[in-house]
Amino acid sequence: MTDPASGLYFGRVALIGIGLIGSSLARVLKRDRLAGHIAVCARTHATLDAAAALGIADSTTTDPRQAVTDADLVVLCTPLGAYGAIAQAMAAGLKPGCIVTDVGSVKSCVIADVGPHLPDGVHFVPAHPVAGTEHSGPQSGFAELFEGRYCVLTPPSGTDETAIDTVTRLWRQAGMIVERMAATHHDRVLAITSHLPHLIAYTIVGTATDLEDHLKLEVIKFSAGGFRDFTRIASSDPVMWRDIFLSNRDAVLEMLQRFNEDLTALQRAIRWGEGQALEGRFARTREIRRGVLAAKQA
Ligand code: NAP
Repeated sequence: MTDPASGLYFGRVALIGIGLIGSSLARVLKRDRLAGHIAVCARTHATLDAAAALGIADSTTTDPRQAVTDADLVVLCTPLGAYGAIAQAMAAGLKPGCIVTDVGSVKSCVIADVGPHLPDGVHFVPAHPVAGTEHSGPQSGFAELFEGRYCVLTPPSGTDETAIDTVTRLWRQAGMIVERMAATHHDRVLAITSHLPHLIAYTIVGTATDLEDHLKLEVIKFSAGGFRDFTRIASSDPVMWRDIFLSNRDAVLEMLQRFNEDLTALQRAIRWGEGQALEGRFARTREIRRGVLAAKQA
């Protein structure tokens, strides 16, 4: 049955990876009856069994090629470091006209790692739904995850417009606002809005963990003072974030360099008691929060 509102329907969808993002998308596909069959691929039987028990997989396999056979839509939802090997393994199973897309948090590397493996006649539309939580695994997903958030498509030039339109409609159906961008631009924007904040959170929580024992106890006790928010971000999946930093090396290092310079300027202002400089900086950043609230992205 085609969804009457969107006119969107796929005979067979293959989801490679069924963690937070893959399982949330599977829930949308099920809720809106957008797929005749959802084939799910993961590394472990424990994950596949969990997906089947949740009712979000019609068939399961650890073999990417088997999952994509006869699929109209393939969505890569694994950590970025696995993409190249998966693309290679599934390539021979892809049927002509099939759309391959993904949800990875970095985009230039996806085009480099996946693109060369795809046969002629298969359409490749890289995508990044900018929505998430610190949780992982199929049980942590929920269909509403994507609502009101942005999804960035980074199709290489020459990509079939009908395929781009289909992926656009898929994410709109999930409640997202869809934008198109060059992959390199996406990677610079996300380096500052997502990757650097995670790096800072991982650093500050690590610094606190290395403190002497008696101080460490107080850190937990008084965490509501701001530290708590960092611990939430720093509890995100270690493999996923390892891959994001390694895949977006240049952009992250560029933003980190700028951050270090600004941090040094603040350090100097504190050392020399330059209250006006501090206040000016903090007043300016307060405006950014107002902008985020106004854009309903808080
Ligand atoms: P997740 O919850 O950790 O799930 C990862 C899934 O990938 C699991 O089902 C895992 O299966 C599977 N997997 C790992 N290696 C595989 C392989 N070699 N072959 C087949 N399946 C494999 O991860 P997630 O949070 O959904 O993130 C997935 C992707 O979404 C990442 O690329 C990430 O950059 C992107 N993303 C994440 C967020 C977020 O906030 N989490 C937001 C936007 C985009 P097993 O359990 O069997 O290993």
